[in-house]
Amino acid sequence: MNEYDSNRILDITKKINYSLTKDLIETNCYILNTCHIREKATEKVYHDIGRLKKEFRNKKKPIVLIAGCVAQAEGDILLKKEKYIDAVIGPQSYHQINDTIIKLEKKLKPINITEFEVIEKFDTLNFIKNSDSKISSFLTIQEGCNKFCKFCVVPYTRGPEYSRSIEELVQEANHLVKNGAKEINLLGQNVNAYKFEKKKLSDLIFEISKIKDLKRIRYTTSHPRDFTKDLIEAHKNCDKLMPLIHLPVQSGSNKILEAMNRRHTIEDYLKIVENLKKIKPSVKFSSDFIIGYPGETYKDFKETIKLMNKVGFINSFSFMYSSRPGTPAFNLDKIDEKDAKNRLIEFQHIAENVKNKYRKSLIKKQLKFYLKIK
Ligand code: SF4
Repeated sequence: MNEYDSNRILDITKKINYSLTKDLIETNCYILNTCHIREKATEKVYHDIGRLKKEFRNKKKPIVLIAGCVAQAEGDILLKKEKYIDAVIGPQSYHQINDTIIKLEKKLKPINITEFEVIEKFDTLNFIKNSDSKISSFLTIQEGCNKFCKFCVVPYTRGPEYSRSIEELVQEANHLVKNGAKEINLLGQNVNAYKFEKKKLSDLIFEISKIKDLKRIRYTTSHPRDFTKDLIEAHKNCDKLMPLIHLPVQSGSNKILEAMNRRHTIEDYLKIVENLKKIKPSVKFSSDFIIGYPGETYKDFKETIKLMNKVGFINSFSFMYSSRPGTPAFNLDKIDEKDAKNRLIEFQHIAENVKNKYRKSLIKKQLKFYLKIK
């Protein structure tokens, strides 16, 4: 989503005659779009600013703007601690970036814009053409989250769930296809919680699939609780929908899922996998895993390995649990770091084998949907 947001920030700033430069020293406005999901995000910002300062030593400093979720979560601290930063702007306020830059050009005081103005943001963005011209383009359809998993910052940095209208999304998808996109990846923190009036994600997929020159549709990231029957059916009825589903599970242990407040069980998860496979035998899955969540025993961890082998995830994103300030899990007792590290190594080794086994099975195969795109 940050990639989508960065592209849109560029589209917006073009309106006040800014453009992208690859030469840092030419920069007169430096925008760092940040992610807060992992530990050390804030330190990375200070580190980056340090490099920038070095580059601009004895030269006129550029306007420095920190955008994204670090700005949202720690904006005041950033402005206080690092005077080189001129403004912080949250992920739901970046439609105000031009006003902010114009104010800063006039040398006004540091600015903090971190309200949740998601409706206003998309109202503004709808009037600015998406100029992304990649074969595979991102399209944000939904933002925010109401689920409040205990480890996660998203509900606090992106705010509550919000879905854009089908009409504006079809319009933006058409622009992307005109710009050359063959594939669109629909984005949302809870993409399958998409709901606009009575329309769901499956309705949106069918609408977008009507765009003639669009060959493929993907969506990410889904939550098991929102994996409704109509979405499963869409995998049968929509040819353009790719048979790869990123469905984060986080842990294979029901005890840990409950501790995380994931609001689903392993049985629920496996039922979705089973139903999808029934409808589309070629479907494959990828997932996210948190290893070493507070309270995880080796037995719980073995459940995660069991799940990995059972589903055969062809791609996995696994991390050692990292506590995020402001989340309910922040003050929980962590498990021994060495144990967590060893489990992560063990898990990644198995995940790599599962992935490679799948990749080897593809050698010398030609797949229909890859050919279609040419
Ligand atoms: S559902 Fe996803 S985005 Fe929402 S709180 Fe849980 S992990 Fe975070």
